[in-house]
Amino acid sequence: MSMRIFCIANQKGGVGKTTTTVNLAAGLAQVGQRVLVVDLDPQGNATMGSGVDKRSLPLSVYDVLLESATVAEARQRSVAGYDVLGANRELAGAEVELVELERRERRLKQALAAAEADYDFVLMDCPPSLSLLTLNGLCAAHGVVVPMQCEYFALEGLSDLVNTIKQVHANLNPELKLIGLLRVMFDPRITLQQQVAEQLKAHFGDKVFNTVIPRNVRLAEAPSYGQPGVTFDPSSKGAQAFVEFAREMVARLA
Ligand code: ADP
Ligand code: MG
Repeated sequence: MSMRIFCIANQKGGVGKTTTTVNLAAGLAQVGQRVLVVDLDPQGNATMGSGVDKRSLPLSVYDVLLESATVAEARQRSVAGYDVLGANRELAGAEVELVELERRERRLKQALAAAEADYDFVLMDCPPSLSLLTLNGLCAAHGVVVPMQCEYFALEGLSDLVNTIKQVHANLNPELKLIGLLRVMFDPRITLQQQVAEQLKAHFGDKVFNTVIPRNVRLAEAPSYGQPGVTFDPSSKGAQAFVEFAREMVARLA
């Protein structure tokens, strides 16, 4: 299988993008896939959540975007068996610097092409905006995975993201498609969440992953230990769900 590149995106903050990125990466690593996580959020949460200290990165995704380093030079090894192209505040500056440059939205795509032989999956943790950083991610990607909570307003904002995907598909990256919606932070005791979860499946069908990620405190605790939940507490419900999700992803692409 050739390298598959996915953006984990949603325009809302706090919906589980970073949790999905690092735990899917750890789950995929656990089932034998070679994975690179690209942290495209200047907050650097995916970097820290992989056990890589964003404050002491020798090289980061910033250097790769500005073409002063290759992926092979800038990547770090996470504690959970995958590689990380880390990010920190410096990345916020790239946004401004890139505007001046040629091929500004294709930098990441080119950089990743050089690492094609090293990975089965690249997962890009996007910031909660449609910035030039997100655009670089969308231009490099084969598809987008959208984590969403099963709340009444879950679909609000989704139409903006779907429109952006359509535009990028039409103008910049014909390979890009919506891979699927992932229902996260699910609490089966809440009737409304059950209803929204079912409505999503009814409305979007195949575009909704079968795996549902439960609300699970171990997933929330893991980042403060510098690990994804999948390795922090493998027997937790959250960890098991993400390993199942990794298997579903692999099966979908087989
Ligand atoms: P985003 O990257 O979209 O801003 P995060 O992945 O950082 O969202 O998640 C937001 C918060 O919710 C974090 O504190 C995270 O630990 C917590 N969280 C995410 N997924 C779960 C889950 N399945 N169960 C419990 N807490 C979760
Ligand atoms: Mg995040």
